[in-house]
Amino acid sequence: MRWQGRRQSKNVEDRRSLGRDVAVGGGLLTLLIMGAALFFPDLVPVLKLFEAPPGARQAAPAKPINDEMGAFLRTVVADNEDVWAKLFPQAFNKRFAPARLVMFTGRVQSGCGIADAGAGPFYCPLDKTVYIDPTFYEELKRRFGAPGDFAQAYVIAHEFGHHIQNQLGISQQVQSLQGRVSQKEYNQASVRLELQADFLAGVWAHHLAKYEGILDEDDIREAVNAAAAIGDDRIQKQTQGYVQPEKFTHGDSEQRVRWFMYGLKTGDPTLMQRAFEVDYP
Ligand SMILES: [Zn+2]
Repeated sequence: MRWQGRRQSKNVEDRRSLGRDVAVGGGLLTLLIMGAALFFPDLVPVLKLFEAPPGARQAAPAKPINDEMGAFLRTVVADNEDVWAKLFPQAFNKRFAPARLVMFTGRVQSGCGIADAGAGPFYCPLDKTVYIDPTFYEELKRRFGAPGDFAQAYVIAHEFGHHIQNQLGISQQVQSLQGRVSQKEYNQASVRLELQADFLAGVWAHHLAKYEGILDEDDIREAVNAAAAIGDDRIQKQTQGYVQPEKFTHGDSEQRVRWFMYGLKTGDPTLMQRAFEVDYP
């Protein structure tokens, strides 16, 4: 992915210099979230249960670190803003409200509660912000065998997919099912929501690919490899040694790749509802 020398978004906040001591008093909540969340689960429904304790806000502003990762993430956020600011009003006849991204180290106070880096990147619908500890990318590369800058960009585009869903009220619909349907049915709805976010990441890649020289074949391979690497079946095999499809919350590797590719091929966000209607687009 050619990302150097292009526009960088101002909607990115760098809290990495604050380190691990941000969320005083959040230990118990963090443990609960961690226990429920395992790995890369976005945390949206889990975090909703825990409101931020008063007084847990950080005191000192963070100093931005001037490094390549920061520049990369600012560029990927700008790419998402540029594509969706154009596409979203055309497709849904609504104004696109930009999301924010927060980089952090170790632990973070989000609008949805305190989160630990171990749970992976996530989107908080309450403050419309994507949170990522960039050391996650090391884990994606080493533990899950998904290296590459476009694999990293796909992760952010997936979270922006959740931002699109939030603006259209889709995340809220799925969340409202919690407690009203069986856990199995709720998990199925969660899988559909996640596959839709993968589809939207593919739509984004489709439009980014129109700009000469930004993406090549290897980039697409990196994203597909990453989508497969974070399928529920692979993660379960890796973390517990066996697969339990009824516990899937994000979709298996094959589904995640397929819905990303469907978005990449069509580039049409109005097809997103199909993720809730059909299995094979
Ligand atoms: Zn997600």
